[in-house]
Amino acid sequence: MDGMCKGLHEACGVFGIYAPGRDVARVSFFALYALQHRGQESAGIATSDGHLAYLHKGMGLVAQVFNEENMRPLQGHMAIAHNRYSTTGTVSLRNAQPYLIETLHGPLGIAHNGNLTNVNKLRLKLLQRGVGLVSGSDSEVITQMLAFPQQSNSWEVRIAAFMAEAEGAYALTILSKEAVFGVRDPWGLRPLVLGEFPNGGWALASESCALSTIGAKLVREIEPGEIVRLDAAGVTSTQGQPLRQRALCIFEYVYFARPDSILEGQAVHLVRQRLGEELAREAPVEADIVIGVPDSSTPAAIGLANALDIPFTEGLTKNRYIGRTFIQPDDRLRQMGVALKFNALDANLAGKRVIMVDDSIVRGNTAGPLVRLLRQAGAKEVHVRVSSPPVRHSCFMGVDMATQEELIAHRLDVEGIRQHIGADSLHYLSYEGMIRAVNAGAPRPMTYCTACFSGRYPVPLDEAWLQQRKSRKESFETLRG
Ligand code: SF4
Repeated sequence: MDGMCKGLHEACGVFGIYAPGRDVARVSFFALYALQHRGQESAGIATSDGHLAYLHKGMGLVAQVFNEENMRPLQGHMAIAHNRYSTTGTVSLRNAQPYLIETLHGPLGIAHNGNLTNVNKLRLKLLQRGVGLVSGSDSEVITQMLAFPQQSNSWEVRIAAFMAEAEGAYALTILSKEAVFGVRDPWGLRPLVLGEFPNGGWALASESCALSTIGAKLVREIEPGEIVRLDAAGVTSTQGQPLRQRALCIFEYVYFARPDSILEGQAVHLVRQRLGEELAREAPVEADIVIGVPDSSTPAAIGLANALDIPFTEGLTKNRYIGRTFIQPDDRLRQMGVALKFNALDANLAGKRVIMVDDSIVRGNTAGPLVRLLRQAGAKEVHVRVSSPPVRHSCFMGVDMATQEELIAHRLDVEGIRQHIGADSLHYLSYEGMIRAVNAGAPRPMTYCTACFSGRYPVPLDEAWLQQRKSRKESFETLRG
């Protein structure tokens, strides 16, 4: 389901490219376009020709931020780019990325996906060193930490020094005078992949779908704790920090990633189908049709329909051009958003017993209106199946997910939620079923961050920072990259 409706927002997509002879700004534009689902608040591209760096960023969708005129000055053979998503609190250009500053070592640009969980400690350290900060963003903290003079002139040494101090989630693309870097936190919480162009040149992206869009071939994932350098010598790799427990965000499989992306060697679409198959095994029900909430729930709905041998069909159509609106801060507007965004296909629904598959229920503001929509269209029964377990805990690793109190599964049990949304039956996929489905196609056994389902956070959480986040909801927006 669309994140805008359910109050679940991926926080950012990042991209990087080193490709002499190519129009790197234009390539970055199309990569950001492919990563648009990861962030719709702002977009930006920073380029470098090895001497000077150039930047353009703005509020809105990629296509709204860039045009031929403002892309013309973005010269050079290397670039980084960023899509940002935020819907709570104020929306501000100040938080748009990439950050680009001048340092002792030349220009430095940063694009960040994730959330540092010890950012307060790091901020204090910078302030004590006399570094002025202009925002509450942890991405600015990263930028300033990387700029800080170290004994070595090597960027790898400075990046490793930052990694030694940082805790939490970060997938970074970094632009310097001579190279582009890709960095992933030691847990590998947020995805980052490496691609190669057939005629020379390299790219980094949050998801492989961006590589396909720009004609690059997926080479591999950046490993947790790894620093990859793209420059005239090709690709070099150093381990900035040892691998901690592998903890890729499992929600990437459930909802965030595009279905045509490859994560850890698995096609996301196939994993989602398996989530649907598990769901069918756990909670079969007699019905005439299976529908998915467009678009992200479609693969799980197909998997469930195949497993139950019930026809999959369209029951809801989505207006893809409503797009993101900045005006939806409260529940009433969110509910209106459902009506604006979805229409029921009466011809397919009238008189039918319907299984509606959704990938997750977060706040619970969308499922109820959708069930009503199906009933108004004549559905005789509506059985809701959710292809992930109940979301009971907030995310502190870079996903804007609502506070714990706002999570419907934190307040109500499954029967309470069923009554709230008005379904004839409701079943969430079990935790074990989700892990089984995700691991079934993995080339080797993997571990994941599942904290929003299980409450087990893979990274240490700073208590003072947690309190700050809980008490100042509006500050979420400035704390996230
Ligand atoms: Fe992903 Fe949930 Fe972990 Fe956040 S808490 S990183 S959304 S699995």
